[in-house]
Amino acid sequence: MKYMTAEPFRIKTVEPIKQTTKDYRQKCLAEAQYNVFKLRAEDVYIDCITDSGTTAMSQNQWAAIMRGDESYAGSQSFYRLKESVEDIFGMPYVQPVHQGRAADHMIAKLYAKPGKYAIGNMHFDTFRGNAEVVGCIPLDFVIPEGRSANQEYHPFKGNMDIPRLRSYLEAHASEVCCIIMTVTCNNNGGQPVSLENIRETSKVAAEFNIPMIMDSARLAENAYFIKMREPGYEDVDIKTITREMFSYVESAVMSSKKDGLVNIGGLFVTRNEDIFHQANQHSIVYEGFTTYGGMSGRDMDALAVGLQEGVDAAYLEYRINQVKYLGDRLKEKGVPIIEPTGGHGVYVDGRKFFPHIPQHEFPSQRLVVALYEEAGVRAVEIGACAFGKKDPETGEDIWPELETMRIAISRRVYTDNHMDVIAEALGDIYKNRDQYKGMRLVFEGPITSLRHFTAGFELIDA
Ligand SMILES: *Cc1c(COP(=O)(O)O)cnc(C)c1O
Repeated sequence: MKYMTAEPFRIKTVEPIKQTTKDYRQKCLAEAQYNVFKLRAEDVYIDCITDSGTTAMSQNQWAAIMRGDESYAGSQSFYRLKESVEDIFGMPYVQPVHQGRAADHMIAKLYAKPGKYAIGNMHFDTFRGNAEVVGCIPLDFVIPEGRSANQEYHPFKGNMDIPRLRSYLEAHASEVCCIIMTVTCNNNGGQPVSLENIRETSKVAAEFNIPMIMDSARLAENAYFIKMREPGYEDVDIKTITREMFSYVESAVMSSKKDGLVNIGGLFVTRNEDIFHQANQHSIVYEGFTTYGGMSGRDMDALAVGLQEGVDAAYLEYRINQVKYLGDRLKEKGVPIIEPTGGHGVYVDGRKFFPHIPQHEFPSQRLVVALYEEAGVRAVEIGACAFGKKDPETGEDIWPELETMRIAISRRVYTDNHMDVIAEALGDIYKNRDQYKGMRLVFEGPITSLRHFTAGFELIDA
C-alpha cells in the first residue's frame, strides 16, 4: 500500500508570524499607497510576494556557512561552489555575482547591443530593465498557448514559438544580438520549457549564428517538469536533465535566490572562454574579485549545498505538489487560475476574477489589495502595472495580454495549512467580487519596466 507523502523534512527552528486586524491592515495599505511592496514585512501574515531569497535553509547549509572561507582571492568556498555548479550545469567557467540582476547586467553588457533586439520566450523584468538601460529592445516569442490565460492544458507553456523565431530571423537576423531562454518562464505562471524546445531553439540560433543564453533561476523546477511530462525522460535523473538543458547554450545566468535555496547570490556561467574573461573584467568593476563577485565566502558555501538540495527528486516532488495543492483548493472554490499550475506559485486570472474592472483600472492589483486587506496575505500583481508600457511613438498605453495576481510560494517555508488560509480568503473575496471597484495609478518611476516596485495607487471607490 502506498501512503501519502508529506514534506521530506521536519522543522527544527520556527519563526513567529503575526496576525493583525482588518482595520489595521487598511491603515497600512493607505500608508503604502496600495502598493504591497511598501508594506512592512512584520505586518504580513503569509508572505507570497515572491519566492526569491525567501527559502528556509537546511541544517547542512547552516553547517556549510561555518566553513565559509572569507579570503579575498582564491577562497575554498569559491572552489566548492564551482564544483557544485559544474556538476549541475556541466559548464566549465563560473563567475559568482551578488544576485540575478547583476548577471542580467552582465549579459546586457556582454551580449545586448544598443538598437538591437534580444529575443526571449518571455524575458524576466530585471533583464528587461537592464536591456532598457543599454538601449536594447527585448522581444517575447513565447508560444500562443503561453500568452493567453486560457485554461487549456499544455505541458510546456513556456516554450519558444520556433516558427515565429525562424521567420523573424530570416528577415532580421543582423538586428538580433542574442536569444535568451528563461526556465521556468516566470511571467506566464512559472511554466516550463521542454528539452525538445530548448534543443530546437538552439539549432535555429546556431543556424543564424546568434548566441543563446539560459536565464535559469528555476532550473530544477523546470527539470522536474521535464521528468514528469516529456516523453523519454521519466527515468532520467534531474541532474542529467539539467546538464542536457545547459548543453544547448553558450552561457547561463542564475538568480540563486530561487532554486539555489539561498537568501542571496547569483551566477554567470559559460563555456566560452573569451566571454568568461570579459565577465571577469565586468565583475571586478561592478561586483568584486573573480572568485567572489559580490558574495561572501559563507554565502557561496550555502549555495554550493543548496544547489544540490534543489535538484533532489523528493524535495522537488514536495515543492511542485504544494503549489498544485493550492491551485486545486482554489479551483474547488471557482477561483479562475492559470492552468496547469507552474513551479513556484499560483497565478490568479485578474480579468476573469473581476470582469467588471477594466485593465486600465488594474484588476489584479485590486485583488492583491483585497487579499491583504482580508487575510494579511501578500501576493503580487503581474499585469497592467508590472507589464503595461507606453508606445514609444504615440505615448499611448499598451496593456499586457496576461493580467494576473501571482501567489508565490517560498521554498520549505509554509505548510499546507497556510495554503488553506489563502484559498479560504480568496474564495470569500470571489463570492463578493461584484463589490470591488478598480484603482488609479498616481505615481510611477522613470524605468517603466520596473515601475511596479515603487508605484502608488488610489482606490477608485474611496
Ligand atoms: C529573480 C530572477 C532574476 C533576478 O534575480 P535577483 O536575484 O532578484 O536579482 C532574473 N531572472 C529570473 C528568471 C529570475 O527569476
